[in-house]
Amino acid sequence: MTELEQKVLDQITEAEVVALLQEITRINTVNPPGNEAALAQVLKAKLDQEGIPAELQYVTENRANLIATLAGTGTGPTLLYNAHMDTVPVGDRANWKVDPFAGEIIDGKIYGRGVADDKQGVAAMIMAAIALKRAKVPLKGTLLVTPVMGEETGNIGTLHLLENGLQADMAVVGEWSSHRKIALGYRGSLWFKLKTYGKTAHGSRPSFGINAIDHMTELVLPHLKSLTFDYEPTEIFLINYPTLSVNVISGGVKTNVVPDYCEVEVDMRLVPGQKPAEVEAQIRAALKDLEKLHPDLHVEMEVFEQSFPFQTPVDSELVQVLTQAVTDVTGEAPEYMGKTGCSDANPLSAAGIPVVAFGPGNPSGHEPNEWVEIADLVKVTEILALHALRICG
Ligand SMILES: [Zn+2]
Repeated sequence: MTELEQKVLDQITEAEVVALLQEITRINTVNPPGNEAALAQVLKAKLDQEGIPAELQYVTENRANLIATLAGTGTGPTLLYNAHMDTVPVGDRANWKVDPFAGEIIDGKIYGRGVADDKQGVAAMIMAAIALKRAKVPLKGTLLVTPVMGEETGNIGTLHLLENGLQADMAVVGEWSSHRKIALGYRGSLWFKLKTYGKTAHGSRPSFGINAIDHMTELVLPHLKSLTFDYEPTEIFLINYPTLSVNVISGGVKTNVVPDYCEVEVDMRLVPGQKPAEVEAQIRAALKDLEKLHPDLHVEMEVFEQSFPFQTPVDSELVQVLTQAVTDVTGEAPEYMGKTGCSDANPLSAAGIPVVAFGPGNPSGHEPNEWVEIADLVKVTEILALHALRICG
């Protein structure tokens, strides 16, 4: 490590990173409604003190992204650090052993809603930028730090950034991986409804009607689940094949009426290499074939959300420099992993920006008693600062 690199790392103290994460945990940003602007204001005030320009970008009332810029001379790449400020709801408070909005510390861990998803990433990325600024690092490239709103409900904050001209050469999203792992990719998603239409009849004369629930459960869903989809399994993903789960069903009006309508919602997840539009076309074709076999079957498909799966190559500059930063700070090379869900990394990747997820934490996000280890938080902050210095310096 060079003298300048050591000087940057010396700016990072456990006490300050912990205090920042505690402070932002105490601001309730449960989405809905979000209220991320209140948190963005607090971060902006901290950045103002450090002389780092930061602007709120309002998306709706009380809901904003923050865009902090550590500008270089313009002769190097633009690196984006992105993490979301909103959290999922608390759930049943009785399942929490701590106040979810206190940021309490027990045995080297900070507890609270959002401390693992994704306020730990916000705190680490903001502190990394501050460390570079305090060390008076001359930058060629630009570091953008964007704490965003609305990740948990359709990535709306990051999509808003992209729609308003955000550009970057590479990006890290602060979703948990721990300081020992780099998440190279995410699975994608295809969320759709299937609707069957039948004909009502008196419940005592079912043969006079067409039962839409029977058609859904006995014809459509078995056929859907029998389909095989082309894909290439990649080693790093915990679940490295596409999955499909029928998670909502509705239909029927009364015990003694044959139902003429049934609807299900299906959560399908795709692996890198698969394209949502191609998978959709395959399912539509299969449903058409099924209708030909059963002339009284009428089924429709409606896609209401989709995101592209991706895996960023190990030999990319982004992954190589981050890998070296992990190795230099921890003494050990990181492992690579793939994430089973989706995040703001998916729209960034779809916009052509090479992206990985790297952040402190563990899978306790969305659960009661969400926690993050302080040592993990500090290590990630150091690694992010070193990575930004090497990319932008
Ligand atoms: Zn998240």
